[in-house]
Amino acid sequence: MAYDLIVIGTGPGGYVCAIRAAQLGLKTAVVEKNPTFGGTCLNIGCIPSKALLHASELFEEAGHSFAKMGIGVPAPKLDLKAMLGFKDQAVDGNVKGVEFLLKKNKIDSFFGAGRILAPGKVEVKGNDGKTQTLETKSIVIATGSDVAKLRGIDIDEKRIVSSTGALTLPEVPKHMLVIGAGVIGLELGSVWRRLGAKITVVEFLDGVLPGMDGEVRRQAQRLFEKQGMTFKLSSKVTAVDTSGKTLKATVEPAKGGAAETIEADVVLVSTGRVPYTEGLGLKEAGVKLDERGRIITDHYFATNVPGIWAIGDVIAGPMLAHKAEDEGVAVAEILVGQAGHVNYDVIPAVVYTMPEIASVGKGEEELKAAGIAYNAGKFPFTANGRAKANQQTDGFVKILADAKSDRVLGVHIVGSDAGNMIAEAAIAMEMGAAAEDIARTCHAHPTLPEAVKEAALAVAKRAIHM
Ligand SMILES: Cc1cc2nc3c(=O)[nH]c(=O)nc-3n(C[C@H](O)[C@H](O)[C@H](O)COP(=O)(O)OP(=O)(O)OC[C@H]3O[C@@H](n4cnc5c(N)ncnc54)[C@H](O)[C@@H]3O)c2cc1C
Repeated sequence: MAYDLIVIGTGPGGYVCAIRAAQLGLKTAVVEKNPTFGGTCLNIGCIPSKALLHASELFEEAGHSFAKMGIGVPAPKLDLKAMLGFKDQAVDGNVKGVEFLLKKNKIDSFFGAGRILAPGKVEVKGNDGKTQTLETKSIVIATGSDVAKLRGIDIDEKRIVSSTGALTLPEVPKHMLVIGAGVIGLELGSVWRRLGAKITVVEFLDGVLPGMDGEVRRQAQRLFEKQGMTFKLSSKVTAVDTSGKTLKATVEPAKGGAAETIEADVVLVSTGRVPYTEGLGLKEAGVKLDERGRIITDHYFATNVPGIWAIGDVIAGPMLAHKAEDEGVAVAEILVGQAGHVNYDVIPAVVYTMPEIASVGKGEEELKAAGIAYNAGKFPFTANGRAKANQQTDGFVKILADAKSDRVLGVHIVGSDAGNMIAEAAIAMEMGAAAEDIARTCHAHPTLPEAVKEAALAVAKRAIHM
């Protein structure tokens, strides 16, 4: 039977694309080489990491914050096996949810590695080695990404781990060396610090969270340091000696110079992710990649080969689940002649640490580099009633608005629940709101989002509670 659409990969890009295509009446199938649906995000990414962040945060709170709220409990005891079980349940529930949705939308599923034989032809090689060839009008590649490896440092997922291994460590390391101060390193470093590990983070650049607003980056680093993380910035790990009982990492200044040795029980390699296209047959099909191995697409997610499209981590843009999802929806709509579209100026990014760090739109450095005049309004959570009531006053909201039109260009939040608060900013930006619009919107009291309103008021230098 011929399909209208075959989607290769069922991460957030692929499964969402398949569902939207089915909603629009396309006869759709998915091909997945993993035994479960959901891709990186559901199996070894967003979901398990957030389950461990949640559990470890409560563990830390039980140990440190309950008493001051008048909750007397004995010192919490870690049952790591049970905590990992809690995380596995979260994964299982989400993965089964995708299975249910695919069935509900009458999408056919094929388990096995997909390979493009030609436009309109996908070969699926099952785990039993048997192959079958499926026919289709269109192919969407949504094969995602894989861990970026560091030359000379072999990941064994036991002592030298990627994010995948760091989600299943059987015991809390005494000392974990994290290579890379990006989102994944800081999130998983936070998990294991809360559970008792000493954390040293080595970062090649001169600050944490490269790419984010400078003030946010500096504040975040200070807060992580206050929590006990140690940072070695402008430094690189060049080798890890695995011969002894503890690992010995060679750390050098990024610009070169005298090396030092740092001993650790576990090394987490979190230096980023790379697009994954292995075994897809792209070379033979003539699909072009860029210099970083990403599939080149046009504004409509079309590759250079007619009938073959690509979305998600495997193409350019931020490697985020919701970006992949929105591209999945857009390409399905484009396939039926609708005007599918993704607004890359409004893609929120969240770091799920405590406090959380969230941003959407441009940072101050980006605006300066682009020569855009802006007004900044900032409001600290120390002045927000709810944050004070909760005694979670770290951080601030900063709104950057065009100096002439007052249109919101970027919103940056460091603070408890920043990840939920950024949604308001994203909606405002999507609607082309001015800072004045946010400032004049009634916000419930007492809530943390009142800090967003106050930051919007501060753009015009008229914050009330500051
Ligand atoms: C530890 C960690 C935490 C993260 N946390 C967040 C977060 O909090 N928020 C967020 O937005 N993003 C997060 N991400 C990133 C997020 O997981 C990715 O951006 C997202 O999964 C990309 O979706 P995708 O559909 O493009 O690809 P993927 O989710 O990578 O899915 C690709 C799928 O394609 C399959 N596949 C590959 N090749 C073939 C083939 N030839 N045949 C058949 N199937 C194939 C794979 O098995 C996989 O299931 C995190 C990532 C990691 C590693």
